[in-house]
Amino acid sequence: AETGLANEADVGDLREAMHGRLLAPGEPGYDEARRVWNATADRRPALIASCADVTDVQTALGFAVARGLPVAVRGGGHSVAGFSTCDDGMVIDLGGMRAVSVDPERRVARAGGGATGADVDRATQEHGLATTLGVVSTTGIAGLTLGGGIGWLMRKHGLACDNLLAVELVTADGRVLRASADEHPDLFWALKGGGGNFGVATSFEYRLHPVGPTVYGGGVMFDRGRRRAVLEAYRELTREAPDDLTTYTAMTDGPDGTPVAAVAACYAGDPAEGARLLDPLKAAVGEPLLDGLGPLTYLQQQSRMDEAYPRGAYHYWRSCFLDDLTDAVIDVLVDRASDVSAPPALELIVEHLGGAITAGDGAFAHRGASHDVLIAANWTDPADEAHCVAWARDTAAALAPHSRGGYVNYEPDAGGAHVPAAFGDRLARLAAVKAAYDPHNVFSLNQNVAPAT
Ligand code: FAD
Repeated sequence: AETGLANEADVGDLREAMHGRLLAPGEPGYDEARRVWNATADRRPALIASCADVTDVQTALGFAVARGLPVAVRGGGHSVAGFSTCDDGMVIDLGGMRAVSVDPERRVARAGGGATGADVDRATQEHGLATTLGVVSTTGIAGLTLGGGIGWLMRKHGLACDNLLAVELVTADGRVLRASADEHPDLFWALKGGGGNFGVATSFEYRLHPVGPTVYGGGVMFDRGRRRAVLEAYRELTREAPDDLTTYTAMTDGPDGTPVAAVAACYAGDPAEGARLLDPLKAAVGEPLLDGLGPLTYLQQQSRMDEAYPRGAYHYWRSCFLDDLTDAVIDVLVDRASDVSAPPALELIVEHLGGAITAGDGAFAHRGASHDVLIAANWTDPADEAHCVAWARDTAAALAPHSRGGYVNYEPDAGGAHVPAAFGDRLARLAAVKAAYDPHNVFSLNQNVAPAT
């Protein structure tokens, strides 16, 4: 072992005590285990505790807290900011806790804190049920849900966090709590959008809804040069859309790398009605390069973008919530998306909110927003970093006058700079809950809420 820490006798005791695996630098598997989705987060933890159960989480956390080690908690490892790893600290990895059980009668799913979207969707769809999760199925449900959780079912069924019935949590002092509407309701409120600030979530219980197996979804791609027409037609579509329909528009690349302006959709009702709702957009924009809208299974819909976001590339993302997709916003988007594109992929994705989201309760701060804009710079050659980050920052700056803050799950680690805008008027209440459950800020690798003093 390379570090002094790993040689200490009590690391041996920790290894003995754990049911899962403990990895230290230099050990077989360490290098693979330290990697996360975003390759910009290239860090070397002192220890990686691959937890097998709740007791492991308590044991590993207690070890780290007693020694004042930095603590990084990992669910699916997809933090864009790189929060689920650290240098010289303890990674509490829940990747071994992915079990999902479904009670079809009560329409409830219970999933381990390391489950991915695919784990939950597969288990729930066996019963013709689902809950809102993200649009890339390899993403962890933990980080996604704790930050809010936007996806194809959100306008019909609310955010992922709106469907939470309970969360089992290991707190900084090692207790195991159940937070729900009746148990620790203040904590439960904070877990619905407040991110990983309050403890290690070891399981999530979700309310389920009948969904599929067939939905109307997929996407249609137009030449990037038509982007203004696409954005304007998309705005028309979202103004009239029923809550059963969730749509995105994206200035992105087609399967062969062609720059496109795309519209992607999920109509979680009768596919014929989905087609009826999307046809006017197609008529307004004209001939598509590729029309992939149509009926597909909900599981296909949930994984169709997976290949576009593989693990191990470099990413810098920003985001901003809008009150309206105004002409001024469309001007900025048209201007910032170039006609040409080659790697790196600089994407602008507009996500339509509203619907059931507006009715939810909890710490997620931007319920009134009409849309979210995701500004995603993705590259594979480290030499592209400066240019990609500058593009994303400049785009965010251009949208800032029209924006009400960013999404905790998309924003980068900026040392707390994005926190006030991300949590908005929820911040004071979050700080009070933080003081009650994590007064010493053990859980600091997140969009961090300072404990109220
Ligand atoms: P991790 O990297 O494991 O953790 C993220 C954060 O949550 C960290 O701060 C971590 O400490 C904390 N955390 C993780 N697990 C736990 C736990 N069990 N208990 C307490 N804290 C924990 N978001 C959406 O809302 N909708 C989308 O459609 C969507 N698509 C995405 C697609 C891709 C390819 C990627 C990379 C991200 C996407 N996101 C989306 C953003 C996503 O929600 C966040 O990246 C989220 O944090 C990922 O969760 P994770 O568990 O995989 O991440």
